[in-house]
Amino acid sequence: MTELLPDGRTIDEATAAGARAHELDRAHVFHSWSAQAQINPMTIVATEGSYVWDGQGNKLLDFSSQMVNTNIGHQHPKVVAAIAEQAAKICTIAPQHVNEARSEAARLIAERTPGDLDKVFFTNGGADANEHAIRMARVHTGRQKVLSRYRSYHGGTELSINVTGDTRRFANDHGAQAVAHFDGPFLYRSSFYAETEEQESQRALEHLERTIVLEGPGTIAAIILESIPGTPGIMVPPPGYLAGVRELCTKYGIVMIADEVMSGFGRTGKWFAIEHGATAAGPVVPDLLTFAKGVNSGYVPLGGVAIGAEIAATFADKPYPGGLTYSGHPLATASAVATINAMTEERMVENAAQIGDEVIRPTLEEFKAKHPSVGDVRGEGVFFAIELVRDRDTREPLAPYGGSSPAMNETIAALKKGGLLPFANYNRIHVVPPCNVSVDEAREGLAIIDDALNVADAHT
Ligand code: PLP
Repeated sequence: MTELLPDGRTIDEATAAGARAHELDRAHVFHSWSAQAQINPMTIVATEGSYVWDGQGNKLLDFSSQMVNTNIGHQHPKVVAAIAEQAAKICTIAPQHVNEARSEAARLIAERTPGDLDKVFFTNGGADANEHAIRMARVHTGRQKVLSRYRSYHGGTELSINVTGDTRRFANDHGAQAVAHFDGPFLYRSSFYAETEEQESQRALEHLERTIVLEGPGTIAAIILESIPGTPGIMVPPPGYLAGVRELCTKYGIVMIADEVMSGFGRTGKWFAIEHGATAAGPVVPDLLTFAKGVNSGYVPLGGVAIGAEIAATFADKPYPGGLTYSGHPLATASAVATINAMTEERMVENAAQIGDEVIRPTLEEFKAKHPSVGDVRGEGVFFAIELVRDRDTREPLAPYGGSSPAMNETIAALKKGGLLPFANYNRIHVVPPCNVSVDEAREGLAIIDDALNVADAHT
């Protein structure tokens, strides 16, 4: 019998359609972050659960979750059905009107975010969520400057890319956005000559306070930081760091913005990564928390800002000077409602925590023991990074910061050949399957990575 794809097509039919799409893509589609002539993008013709099918008839285990957004996997039937049901009722409605899907999505999000983050402003994605969070902070404080980490990514729009600290900012650095950067904690490549997590945390906080004082506390509207930085390398902050940032923000009247666009909605084994920063004194509650991706697994574009009581109060009588035609779009928010409910009913956040602790972390520790190319492994839940090096003593990365290398490219090719769609960045492979990945799928993906690491080892 001919094998059928989840959408009912034969592999041959889908392959032919995929080849036509590839041809049209090369003729007419302009791609993100790429020199257009130098890319040969992979065609995807079908997706289901933790798997995708490429345009050559190959089934690949999706260990990228695309852009780390399919937290509930591909084509989850409850979400697909919810989008169809909403489309049959109301496809679109202007944001000034109450819409049932948006109200319910806001309730579900407010219930899950920490502390008093009880109001939600919806956007189309993560970058514009950060833009709006910064605007709220600026209007709230009457100050302009924003501090953010060097090793950070906050989005591709004009302000968000300038707030971004990593190399993607360089070609966009227009220097007029009132932004300053600081170094965050990252023990493996410590900027603070620290040898323990405690030293790293304390020195990173001293450095941040120095930066605040030198920049002028009265000029700083916000500090924005990813609760666990994602694309810059999944560096889990050492104990006390996020609580320390919270204290500094309170001390200097600065708005704390937690960017949970990538780390939110179950990815780290908790609803939000900032929960990992709780101390004996209690949870860390930012003033604003931005989200996107996992809120509805990206089935329809959606992001937003969860707003704490103090900033909500600022805008109780004073208009918020901003908005979007599609803020709270019914198809997007209906898919968020279905996603959050499915994640809750099917215990996906708990699953992510368990897979991380019982399967991913111990296996990555084994890789570190047996593969000389593995310099460091770190993460939480289904949010882990493997940092590859040429030399464990010097920690020379297998590809330079912001770049690629033949060694890294060969390793990535080996992963794909083994049947895995990876998320790789510079000298790192990220292990970021969906939150509902099964134990067998997780083991299958890790076995493919194990094999591919032999290719990386050959370059040490
Ligand atoms: N913030 C973080 C932490 C991200 O990882 C991303 C995207 O990867 C963004 C913001 C930007 O989100 P979007 O691409 O939806 O605009």
